[in-house]
Amino acid sequence: MAQLSVEEVGRYGRQLILPEWGRRGQESVKGNSVLIVGVGGLGCPCALYLAAAGIGRLGLLDYDRVELSNLHRQVLHCENRVGVAKSESGRDAVKGLNSHISVTTHTVLLDSSNALSILSQYDIIVDATDNVATRYLLNDGCVLLGKPLVSGSALRFEGQLTVYGWRGGPCYRCLFPSPPPPASVTNCSEGGVLGVVPGVIGSLQALEALKIASGMEPLYSQQLLLFDALGGGFRTIRLRPRQPQCAVCGENPSITALIDYELFCGSRADDKDKRVDILDPELRVSPQEYSEVVSGGKPHLLLDVREEVEYQICHLPHSRSILPQFRSTTCVCLYIRKSEQVLPEPHVTFQTFLCATSKMAPWMPPGSGYWKPHPQLMTPPIPCL
Ligand SMILES: [Zn+2]
Repeated sequence: MAQLSVEEVGRYGRQLILPEWGRRGQESVKGNSVLIVGVGGLGCPCALYLAAAGIGRLGLLDYDRVELSNLHRQVLHCENRVGVAKSESGRDAVKGLNSHISVTTHTVLLDSSNALSILSQYDIIVDATDNVATRYLLNDGCVLLGKPLVSGSALRFEGQLTVYGWRGGPCYRCLFPSPPPPASVTNCSEGGVLGVVPGVIGSLQALEALKIASGMEPLYSQQLLLFDALGGGFRTIRLRPRQPQCAVCGENPSITALIDYELFCGSRADDKDKRVDILDPELRVSPQEYSEVVSGGKPHLLLDVREEVEYQICHLPHSRSILPQFRSTTCVCLYIRKSEQVLPEPHVTFQTFLCATSKMAPWMPPGSGYWKPHPQLMTPPIPCL
């Protein structure tokens, strides 16, 4: 077990005097290593508390660079490190906090080719990512290597936390054998998040990792902590136990090596490009086409189908925010010319009609020559404005 120096005894004195922790717990923490995958909203507070508490070795893994829009929640980074690799920015921050710890950076996108070699260098793994493909990758890697996985997530005003693979507890696949449909998954860049929410969950991930590193029991093995920052506070639900038929940790596992997780999940292992099923180019309105409509003075109606808050942030002049009940995540744009003949409602007289959202399509009769039927176009029609 790692020995504490005199300076370290003074530094960690307030936690050394805790009977449940003591010198033994502190020395155990110093002898342990934690890999944080994702130096973002969850990973930053987690890294701060692990470093402050004296974890022996900290690994910071992130392929991305610091952006200004990260700073409201990714509290390791700062304005003068915008553009710097998050792993390196995080290292500089935690080394400034505690020079006694060792920090290793991994500026890579974790995938099946590098995961096992990186994960195997650490005792405890923290999942601070925000995509499903990496969750399965980390889960399978941790099961194959026999490492505990402290998993957290945060979105909007809600957070979740659990520990997988701890002393016979379930793994992620025991709970979710199949990935969710890619279109049903939302991340922070799309759904938004209040910065303090990942701060709370990331801090709790550090607490769970520290408990394991110190020799204490984590609280949330086979239990899921739910945090509702809007109205409900904290709630804990019990999870199903390890499943004997689990594909990776079961009695006869079919997964004995890492697989292609982007293929398995149908989604990418980063948050840069959500695959969107958009219409063919000829069915969309380009900025140039719309500019010609405006500069040509053509009467038209421009409907904005984004969320109302997005409309409030910015919108094109003369556009109208569409009614909430007709908003759709599947957005299409149709450009209908000479629409007096197309629009059946007598009180609609727009000569040019620019619209969006799949739900508007039945307004326009198929086969009229003004639009092409498309599988995304469904009922019901939008009421006349
Ligand atoms: Zn399992």
